[in-house]
Amino acid sequence: KAKAGERGERRPRWAGGGADRPPAAAPRTPPLPPPPPPPLPLPLPLLLLLLPLLSGAAAGPGGAAKLYRAGRDAVWVLDSGSVRRATANCSAAWLLQFYSSWCGHCIGYAPTWRALAGDVRDWDSAIRVGVLDCADEENYETCREYGIQFYPSFRYFRAFTKEFTHGENYKGSDRELQTVRQTMIDFLQNHSQENRPPACPNLEPISSNDVASLFDISGGHYIAILFESNNSYVGREVMLDLVPFENIVVNRALNSDKTFLEKLGITSVPSCYLIYPNGSHGLINIVKPLRSFFSSYLKSLPGVKRKLSSQVTLPIKPNKEEIVDTSAWREFDKSKLYMADLESGLHYLLRVELATHKTLEGAELKTFKDFVTVMTKLFPGRQSVMKLLETLQEWLVSLPLDKIPYDAILDLVNNKMRISGIFLTHHVQWVGCQGSRPELRGYPCSLWKLFHILSVQAALRPKALINTDFDQNPQGVLQVMRQYIQKFFGCKECAQHFEEMAKESMDSVKILDQAVLWLWKKHNIVNYRLAGQLSEDPKFPKIQWPPPELCPACHEEIKGLDSWNEDEVLMFLKHFYSQENILDKYSEEQTDSSEVGPGAEDARKEKSSQTKPSESRDGKIPDSHHALDPNQRNGGPVKDSVKNEYESGLHKETKHSFLGIGFSNIDMSLCVVLYVASSLFLMIMYFFFRMRSKRWKVKYYRPVV
Ligand SMILES: Cc1cc2nc3c(=O)[nH]c(=O)nc-3n(C[C@H](O)[C@H](O)[C@H](O)COP(=O)(O)OP(=O)(O)OC[C@H]3O[C@@H](n4cnc5c(N)ncnc54)[C@H](O)[C@@H]3O)c2cc1C
Repeated sequence: KAKAGERGERRPRWAGGGADRPPAAAPRTPPLPPPPPPPLPLPLPLLLLLLPLLSGAAAGPGGAAKLYRAGRDAVWVLDSGSVRRATANCSAAWLLQFYSSWCGHCIGYAPTWRALAGDVRDWDSAIRVGVLDCADEENYETCREYGIQFYPSFRYFRAFTKEFTHGENYKGSDRELQTVRQTMIDFLQNHSQENRPPACPNLEPISSNDVASLFDISGGHYIAILFESNNSYVGREVMLDLVPFENIVVNRALNSDKTFLEKLGITSVPSCYLIYPNGSHGLINIVKPLRSFFSSYLKSLPGVKRKLSSQVTLPIKPNKEEIVDTSAWREFDKSKLYMADLESGLHYLLRVELATHKTLEGAELKTFKDFVTVMTKLFPGRQSVMKLLETLQEWLVSLPLDKIPYDAILDLVNNKMRISGIFLTHHVQWVGCQGSRPELRGYPCSLWKLFHILSVQAALRPKALINTDFDQNPQGVLQVMRQYIQKFFGCKECAQHFEEMAKESMDSVKILDQAVLWLWKKHNIVNYRLAGQLSEDPKFPKIQWPPPELCPACHEEIKGLDSWNEDEVLMFLKHFYSQENILDKYSEEQTDSSEVGPGAEDARKEKSSQTKPSESRDGKIPDSHHALDPNQRNGGPVKDSVKNEYESGLHKETKHSFLGIGFSNIDMSLCVVLYVASSLFLMIMYFFFRMRSKRWKVKYYRPVV
């Protein structure tokens, strides 16, 4: 345990931290559709009455995330089955948000996105606003295909796109509703004439001559002309707002021709000039020259009504998770850690978060290797998980490649080699990280816990890191965490905040105990910042942790100020994040992984199609020096060669671990042959000497007289 002086004397809580300093801690208590939705011939009022029924099923605590609800929000809620069909060759363009329901920023941003979707609902036949939840297990693979690495990610998809595309990244200066709306207009205008959504009017301004010629047309419908400045979006917004309405056409014109404007009596812009169906025309009188005023006025003109085909723009298919809620609340003890949380977090990290990186190379590969090394040495996991980590680490270390395809890592994590005794759950099962709503807590909670455990374990068992790059490095675990968060954590904003804190003070960590306290303090700063925000679970408020009921000794009062006793906090953390405090309750049964999971699926298939099971198992984990052919590495694309080499090694050779030493099947067969041979030899020797001794006895028999 470090002396108080080494960590700084006991001091009032938050006494050390500049910008980091929160105030004194007062513990606060299938098949398509939806896209495109079939236009219902229902009158709008009736539909509005039905909507609450359609969206009525409430989300339970254990189901998939529900930041957005199809049928209630104006957002198109897509999933792995519908996203491709929705965006491929569609007559409307799309703006999709790929989000993760555990990401605090996505939760915080959801009201804006919902409001945006509601605001541009009438633009639906030209451009649609949708979402896809990348934290939903069913959508993992889809998000990977779309190359989503961080959340939220915004992508545009042009209308009539035939080939599969990742979409175009959103390039707005910020994510405010108005900015996003305007970039949607820019995006629509970037369509070529051929692929412009048919429902989208030509958004370019018309000239004064064109306006003048409109006066001569008596088309039997209204013609509105929005006069505005060059950088105004009002005209285009109103044009799109009126898309689903008939008996009116809206145009826009710029205010550059001053004499023409004077002729029409226009003194300020934006202004709306209206040509009536009977040919009369005049400037309309609007209280405020705002989009909503113009749109509302034009929509309310006599004879202007919603086109029948566009009466419904809301996708009304309820989310499947709104219908089915299967999982129940798991009771847990707040003073304990649950292995189910840690293993679920590791599963998510390895199979989902990492999967967004198709290939690991350079700094990313190094970070991953370091992470696996630290986990292997420090994580107090169950045997089957540790064996997986050890295998992964050995393989990563022995591989002389500067580029590894993620699929190769996944094969190992899924135990495609079917090494007995390796297993990591394939599902998330939150216990201490359960949220009262499905979109709350979960993965980030487990990641915090995992990193606290690592920092505490490093302090408790410093020798565990001998012979690694982190031996004698008190910041080692923190640096690995920092790199991981920066390179892989899906919440970009969280990573930025964390990096700022790390830059500011990680250098000050000089001993392992300080690393434990550093992480604790930074986590409390994050708690302080997030308290009261939308991502906070009301059932688990963001408090300055540990609260007095969990650690009374950690709290004291100095001159009336609520303060931490850091020695006690350190002791508490070392107990709370110790191996002994982790419960296996709710953890998935550890089945022999050769029979479980995706790897097992393949295995089962293989088993049934192969004559001898041993034929697929006769080998080692790719020993880089033997399995990988350097010539092959130079030729062909690196990724494929690496993967093929990996796979050929993987499927040909499998290691069996015994007393921590890896044996191939050839080794094992040799052992058996040697064993049988030596047994036979011993038996032959035995009978030989027995026979000889009998013969001797007969030969030299001297009967006693
Ligand atoms: C590195 C990192 C940075 C993040 N930054 C952001 C961000 O900028 N914005 C955002 O919206 N979300 C951020 N998040 C997510 C956020 O911090 C929470 O993880 C998430 O909101 C879930 O909160 P929770 O209630 O489960 O508690 P969490 O804060 O996740 O805590 C998990 C558990 O850790 C324990 N704990 C709490 N405080 C401490 C402490 N000080 N020391 C030790 N143990 C503690 C408690 O048992 C708690 O239940 C970040 C997550 C990580 C891992």
